[in-house]
Amino acid sequence: MEHPENNAEYAGLQVNAGVEQPSTINPYLARMRKKRQVLFSVQEYVEGILRGDVTRLSQAVTLVESTLPEHQIVAQEVIEKCLPYSGNSVRVGISGVPGAGKSTSIDAFGVHLLDNYGGKLAVLAIDPSSEKTKGSILGDKTRMEKLSVHPKSFIRPSPTAGSLGGVARKTRETIILCEAAGYNNIFVETVGVGQSETACHSMVDFFLLIQLAGTGDELQGIKRGIMEIADGIVINKADGDNVDRANLAATQFRNALHLFPMPDSGLIPEVKCYSGFYDIGIDEVLAMIFRHIDHVKKNGYFQHRRNEQSKYWMHESINEQLKSGFYNDTDIRQQIGSMEREVLDGHITSFVAAKKLLDTYYNKLKNAAT
Ligand code: GDP
Repeated sequence: MEHPENNAEYAGLQVNAGVEQPSTINPYLARMRKKRQVLFSVQEYVEGILRGDVTRLSQAVTLVESTLPEHQIVAQEVIEKCLPYSGNSVRVGISGVPGAGKSTSIDAFGVHLLDNYGGKLAVLAIDPSSEKTKGSILGDKTRMEKLSVHPKSFIRPSPTAGSLGGVARKTRETIILCEAAGYNNIFVETVGVGQSETACHSMVDFFLLIQLAGTGDELQGIKRGIMEIADGIVINKADGDNVDRANLAATQFRNALHLFPMPDSGLIPEVKCYSGFYDIGIDEVLAMIFRHIDHVKKNGYFQHRRNEQSKYWMHESINEQLKSGFYNDTDIRQQIGSMEREVLDGHITSFVAAKKLLDTYYNKLKNAAT
């Protein structure tokens, strides 16, 4: 028998038309926002940046991060004009697993640096996951309570541009703008997972690895090859009853570091314990960084590393542009799905499919050129 609830007269189960929901964005605000997006001229951006105008710097960084082609054109010109004024800084990469205390430490390091060494500090980040997680690092400026209100600091969350290559390039370009604006210290925070550490390492003069005692992270660091790229290792949370464990971990790290080949810098990384939260040992960590910088400036490694990084970034840019040119091509976008299916169905091999697609793309370029 038909269930009574299926009867059309069973009004209680009828679905009534819903009420249309209003837009979550105030339409008036959206209009105002559009108006505010007026671009300045390249010259206005550059002049603003060179006189250290933080607002103009932020606006220029927004252009750098934008995916709109018209923004990118202006951004690239601004970067080019700022380039002669850049480079005069100490760039420090700061890495650690989530919870290692990066934000707390950057807050402490930054305030000590500005108060004891003077100058200005820009804090940037590379977090390729930030699109999904809405910024697991630097998403929340309140995590750097003291630094975020310091007049000599500039804090910028990670760009949310999808691929790691894209995010890293934007952070590197932002470094140039910050240096032109007179920031002589740059911190680049990166979350200690995956490839983002390598990307961060490729744009800094000193790579600081924050570790915790007694979590087994020590060994993970060794396994993932992170220790090879660290210029200094610091054990955070060396406070209260954790001090002994932190000292023990430091000794283990020092011993392990002697097993690695001598780094190109000619310096075996130092290992220090500190507490970002209780402000213990902060000056020693900063002194360690500046000692290293002094040394590598004298032995020529500082400039050598920056030259290598410039080359690396040239090749990275080529890779990025070749890739985006290919994948954004309309013909390729149409064909790529069917090629994938053919590969999965076993009709052609992956290599043949790749060659066919590349041939299509190259032929198209050739025809466009003639
Ligand atoms: P991040 O995820 O690496 O940025 O780590 P946070 O800076 O957000 O710190 C994670 C947690 O560790 C927070 O609850 C901090 O209060 C705590 N923490 C950070 N530094 C220290 C420290 O030096 N000592 C202690 N005891 N706790 C700390």
